[in-house]
Amino acid sequence: LGGSISRALAQMSNATVIDEKVLNDCLNEISRALLQADVQFKMVRDMQTNIKRIVNLEALAAGTNKRRIMQQAVFTELCNMLDPGKPSFTPKKGKPSVVMFVGLQGSGKTTTCTKYAFYHQRKGFKPALVCADTFRAGAFDQLKQNATKAKIPFYGSYMESDPVKIAVEGVERFKKENCDLIIVDTSGRHKQEAALFEEMRQVSEATKPDLVIFVMDSSIGQAAFDQAQAFKQSASVGAVIITKMDGHAKGGGALSAVAATKSPVIFIGTGEHIDEFEVFDVKPFVSRLLGMGDWSGFMDKIHEVVPTDQQPELLQKLSEGSFTLRLMYEQFQNILKMGPIGQVFSMLPGFSAELMPKGHEKESQAKIKRYMTMMDSMTDAA
Ligand code: GDP
Ligand code: MG
Repeated sequence: LGGSISRALAQMSNATVIDEKVLNDCLNEISRALLQADVQFKMVRDMQTNIKRIVNLEALAAGTNKRRIMQQAVFTELCNMLDPGKPSFTPKKGKPSVVMFVGLQGSGKTTTCTKYAFYHQRKGFKPALVCADTFRAGAFDQLKQNATKAKIPFYGSYMESDPVKIAVEGVERFKKENCDLIIVDTSGRHKQEAALFEEMRQVSEATKPDLVIFVMDSSIGQAAFDQAQAFKQSASVGAVIITKMDGHAKGGGALSAVAATKSPVIFIGTGEHIDEFEVFDVKPFVSRLLGMGDWSGFMDKIHEVVPTDQQPELLQKLSEGSFTLRLMYEQFQNILKMGPIGQVFSMLPGFSAELMPKGHEKESQAKIKRYMTMMDSMTDAA
């Protein structure tokens, strides 16, 4: 994805005359890449229209760095699309809040409920989990296991089949116990969709949640918009969490979910483990969507580890895009000091976290050292 956008921008950069056609070709290339990242067709078209309005052909033709102007325009436009214009409800310590999770079965609700509880527990909240999924056998056991591991109180039943009743009982009990963040996990069966949405409406009506969070699997592709909208219609969704961002999906569905629910993405799930959960940050997300790397994060790291006297030159080279192999070699020594190698690499344009699989950091570190040895044997001309 990043590759084809870079190519499109490079072609535009090389064009001596920028006319409508060059701009259209470039935008078409970028659009193709965004569609591949599961951004909804209609949103891609809107983005194209907006970019054409923002980017002035004359400024592009005169601009020394056409690539940068276009990149900036696309970047800003995507950031705007991810901003619904109003923040979501945020729980306050010491004041009881009810947060209900909705989403299709397998989207990661139960896992995400625990991650969300654990995240807030670390911040000093007193969370509790209620299992209102009476549809799937084993749902309560799964929640119970997760909650026990994280030492979070939980409520559920093996016998009761009415999700509304359990949800209400659980919420009441934990309010009495002075829990300030009561999380209600729900069912998400695929079949009998109408029944599922009716159930969500009833649970929501009975527990009066302060916030309904829609959980979406990042790999569902173009179905994201319709799915998000369907849930929004049965419960008043106020926030979105995108899961499985550690997989192959680029996460373009996030744009659809925001558009369909008019709510912000608040967290992303990046693994099955309880702490593989990150606060959603628009700019790095869009950077990665575009394959531009997380420049701001990377720059911060550079300031941390590159000796001060070398910084201006390196930053200059990076911004010009003339980050050569030799420069890379010189900086590898510093980069190796930057810490978790996977983390550093996922910030670099053209690299992705998949290149540095989790748990293989040592091997990756060794690989880099091997590259350095190889580069040692190269001449400047190579
Ligand atoms: P639910 O049916 O919506 O409650 O979904 P579950 O919480 O049971 O999750 C379904 C599967 O997705 C489980 O195997 C989870 O471990 C897995 N899962 C959930 N979130 C993530 C994530 O962020 N990354 C990965 N790799 N797997 C996840
Ligand atoms: Mg579940």
